[in-house]
Amino acid sequence: MAGADLPFACDCGKLRGTLLGVSPSNGTRAECFCHDCRATELHAGQPDPAPGAVQVYQTVPDRVRFDSGEDQLAVFSLSEKGLLRWHARCCGSIMFNTARSPKLAFASFRTDRLKDDSPLGPIKARAFVRKANGKRGHEGGLKFLFCVIARALPRRIGGKWKQTPFFTPDGQAVRDIYVLTDTERAAVYPPQA
Ligand SMILES: [Zn+2]
Ligand SMILES: [Zn+2]
Repeated sequence: MAGADLPFACDCGKLRGTLLGVSPSNGTRAECFCHDCRATELHAGQPDPAPGAVQVYQTVPDRVRFDSGEDQLAVFSLSEKGLLRWHARCCGSIMFNTARSPKLAFASFRTDRLKDDSPLGPIKARAFVRKANGKRGHEGGLKFLFCVIARALPRRIGGKWKQTPFFTPDGQAVRDIYVLTDTERAAVYPPQA
């Protein structure tokens, strides 16, 4: 199935780009209830998603193109080894999560940045859902992980991982990675139970 080119933008419209050739079958729509995704939104000054989830579409960096306002692109991480949280400095919109290495061709796009997310299909996976017994679990989680690997592995072997707007050809992030301080981290996580 041929995918669609979908324009996206930060909330204020300065940072714009396009998802290239995306479809329900070449990516995975998911929602995540985890503390990290919530902390990411809070640190960026966004509305608290809890008790709801953040909505994402799991795709690959070679399907991401920035078109304008790239000077607004910035990145932080919740910890030294955490995912990279790419956002728009202008308004705080979280745009993408990626791995720390371009060799793992993975980009999780925040679908709130689309005017219409229906071309991406229905939500197929729910991560870190709070169950009736109070524990957190996944729905569709294995399939979701399989899809991430199934997209990343051929790109690693075929060299397509090098097509990314997030990293330079020598594997460095295109922006300096800001790592939260302990104080900043404490402000956006619930107290340890
Ligand atoms: Zn903005
Ligand atoms: Zn999450």
